[in-house]
Amino acid sequence: MKKVYLETFGCQMNVSDSERVATVLESENFEMTPDEDSADIVLFNTCSVREKAEHKLYTRIGQIRKLYSKKKIVGVLGCVAQLEGETLFDKNPSIDFVLGTKAVGRASKAIESVLEGRSKFLDVGEREPDYDWSVAETQKHSPYISFVPIIEGCNKFCTYCIVPFSRGREKSLPAPEIIRHVHKLHRQGVKEVHLIGQNVNSYRPKTSEGLEDFRGATAFSKLLRAVAATGIARIKFTTSFPRDFHTDIIEAINENENLCNWVHLPVQSGSNKILRLMRRGHTIENYFERIDKIKTSDRKISLTTDIIIGFPNESEVDFQDSLKMVDYCQFDSCYIFKYSPRIGTPAYQFEDNVSVEEKKQRFIELEERQRLNQHRIFKSYLNKTVQVLVEKKSSQNNFDLSGRTSCHKVVQFKGSAALLGKIVDIEITESKSNTLYGKVLNTFV
Ligand code: SF4
Repeated sequence: MKKVYLETFGCQMNVSDSERVATVLESENFEMTPDEDSADIVLFNTCSVREKAEHKLYTRIGQIRKLYSKKKIVGVLGCVAQLEGETLFDKNPSIDFVLGTKAVGRASKAIESVLEGRSKFLDVGEREPDYDWSVAETQKHSPYISFVPIIEGCNKFCTYCIVPFSRGREKSLPAPEIIRHVHKLHRQGVKEVHLIGQNVNSYRPKTSEGLEDFRGATAFSKLLRAVAATGIARIKFTTSFPRDFHTDIIEAINENENLCNWVHLPVQSGSNKILRLMRRGHTIENYFERIDKIKTSDRKISLTTDIIIGFPNESEVDFQDSLKMVDYCQFDSCYIFKYSPRIGTPAYQFEDNVSVEEKKQRFIELEERQRLNQHRIFKSYLNKTVQVLVEKKSSQNNFDLSGRTSCHKVVQFKGSAALLGKIVDIEITESKSNTLYGKVLNTFV
């Protein structure tokens, strides 16, 4: 039996695709292995969002070819494969096959072709109409948490982003399929599902089938209510697109305890000038309106975001707007990125005119501002009780277990492995900038 080692770069969507690639390969008599040394076939499921990730791919292929005298088959999957297609073989002639984002279900066919002697196998075609989204128990990234894709691709074309080119246009999965999938996971004992997609709240299935019995201002908020009705313990969803964020989503969260009280809403900048250049489709005033609704909702909803600093033409005044925005929104957590031009995007034509030094300074200043806000927010959890899904043994020595709250905060605490996969009440006794610490009070599910 041939052994396959699969390495994944990038977002949840890639992790989710890799889980299914491994499921298909296992069902077709390949053995998945975490050990690249013993593998006959090495697969890279790639990310193209940052050029760095693409360089990492070439470095890793170089390492594989240098380290092992035994010839291993090397296949490149995912976003870089989709974007580069045939040119990948020119960039690195030692690659045996290339499978685009929607062709990953045909990994075994690609491997078989190479084993039969065909070189440079390429498939960047569409997904099979009957593509099976389920994942074998053995290939899940967690026994308690599952990713459930609800929409693929993106139609937004933000000027800095490669995703619409690598993942194609938005395509929503039919609601009955999603609901069936969640029911199945619930029966299998999964506690938390993450509805995933580049923009989950742009969800627009071809028909309203499966959603007829659920209220909602948009198809997405109907879907949230339908998934909540499955009775699964927790539902999270990422990522939301600000322009499509209807406040009915907040109503749905307020009505359903199992819809988690966490929203990830990438703002990217506090300056309208920069938002326009990024072609984000929202103004900062529109964004603040949504934040006001989130902050005044019945349930306390935690809010996280992404921000890019140093986008072309970002002046000091624009940057100050981003600082003000961070203070206004009081994010529970924030991913800050320094802008770097990505070839193939419209913004690549813009002059990258914020110097490396300015980007560095702005990054430090924004990070510090967020750190102070975050410190205050995390401190407000002291002596409070939160419910935590126990996910894994902690990587830190003093605390045995680690999990996340419904509002997506990491909590560490002492406890036995018997608690893994359970939802427990934890009293918070200590807070740091990114982590809460506490002690177990009760176990629920
Ligand atoms: S919404 Fe914008 S940033 Fe997000 S995936 Fe689409 S194009 Fe990229």
